[in-house]
Amino acid sequence: MNSIFYCKIISLCNKTLEVFPLEVLLLSANLPELPSKEELLRHATFTFLVDGISRACSHQLVRHRPASYSQQSQRYVAMKNFPFVEPETVRGVKVELEGKEMGFKELMELVGKFYEGLVEKGVPKEDARFVLPNACTTRIVFTMNGEELVHFLRLRTCSRAQWEIREVAVEMLKILREKFPGLFDGVGPNCYYLGYCTEGKKTCGRPEEVRELFRNLK
Ligand SMILES: Cc1cc2nc3c(=O)[nH]c(=O)nc-3n(C[C@H](O)[C@H](O)[C@H](O)COP(=O)(O)OP(=O)(O)OC[C@H]3O[C@@H](n4cnc5c(N)ncnc54)[C@H](O)[C@@H]3O)c2cc1C
Repeated sequence: MNSIFYCKIISLCNKTLEVFPLEVLLLSANLPELPSKEELLRHATFTFLVDGISRACSHQLVRHRPASYSQQSQRYVAMKNFPFVEPETVRGVKVELEGKEMGFKELMELVGKFYEGLVEKGVPKEDARFVLPNACTTRIVFTMNGEELVHFLRLRTCSRAQWEIREVAVEMLKILREKFPGLFDGVGPNCYYLGYCTEGKKTCGRPEEVRELFRNLK
């Protein structure tokens, strides 16, 4: 089976960004006909597009080594009015800076202006980007084989994973379950996949609740 489920014209460079919410698309999946699920997962490949995640999140994603990545360039893409992810916990929080109460958005605007100022003064984008924060959004395309994908999902759907990459992993899993229920219905965090938690002292302590969540995930 070789399918393109979604089609979207993407440009990983030379594109001025607009603000958009998190988007997770399965661009393609190649599943050879093989007798066992294990072999099928070893040889199957899945290509995802993830758009609107923070650089903090993409940094965690690319730590997964057996995969190929193409990420939007900050060397060539103008980050004018750069879009950013605002964690819920910082919403409404003000910090006094240089005698002025400042919120997260205001600081991002300030950084954006500084970045633009540098570019206007002739600083190359590849150097001006040094002022850009982890919150800055990015777009990334990646391909994993089925084995690595399951490994990734087991780690990153777990409550221990950071909230943003967990959100991405859960969205990926929802898509995979819809398209390939036989392969992915049993996939989720280790407490669901293996039937027991592997996190030791760092366990969330709610395995039953989490298992129930992943049994019913659609
Ligand atoms: C909850 C959580 C917290 C984390 N916190 C931190 C942190 O504080 N600091 C930090 O630096 N990182 C952190 N990480 C990232 C973590 O250290 C790994 O970089 C990430 O999980 C990817 O590595 P991996 O071994 O899981 O699997 P992958 O890189 O996805 O590889 C999958 C498997 O392939 C095999 N493999 C891959 N590459 C090789 C190789 N070169 N040689 C041999 N075998 C290989 C291994 O069996 C590996 O388990 C965290 C991850 C999680 C899930």
